[in-house]
Amino acid sequence: MDFITLNLQYWISTKETFTFTMIVFGVMVGSFSNVIIYRYPEIIWYGKGKSEGMSLSCPNSRCPKCNTELKWYHNIPVLSWLALRAKCAFCKVKIPSRYPLVELLMAVTYGVIAYLMYGTIVNAVIFAIFANVIIIGCFIYYDHNRLMKIFWVSLPVFIFLFAISSSYFGYYVALID
Ligand SMILES: [Zn+2]
Repeated sequence: MDFITLNLQYWISTKETFTFTMIVFGVMVGSFSNVIIYRYPEIIWYGKGKSEGMSLSCPNSRCPKCNTELKWYHNIPVLSWLALRAKCAFCKVKIPSRYPLVELLMAVTYGVIAYLMYGTIVNAVIFAIFANVIIIGCFIYYDHNRLMKIFWVSLPVFIFLFAISSSYFGYYVALID
């Protein structure tokens, strides 16, 4: 068996390692969720994609006040916010605590789901991503009083994925053992 497969098996081999893996994954996805929460309405609803060249990956993260492009080490989930004492590294404007909170929320969400659903890990991964979409939708709704279309489209998609994974991968861990 090759290296990557062996490692993957290690990281899903116990409830604890799988939970840890999902927490790390949740923090990183939480960071990208912040980008989506901020940019989705700007791009999809307010048309800044064409006029200002904004997309989910471009431009790189900038300070909203002084517009300075952030270095990678200013962008490490939760840790950078703590290290910089919630201030921009350049102009010292206050960075809202929502950014690390969303990252922590995703970490907790992924971790709890991984721990509770370890017996059916493919379902756990699908469920965590589903929860992620719902949380993003909630934040955008809170900010703009409007639900994103993908929020509704995702409902039947995830129900369908659940049905498939439940019947085929429900006992994936048991099969590995
Ligand atoms: Zn700044």
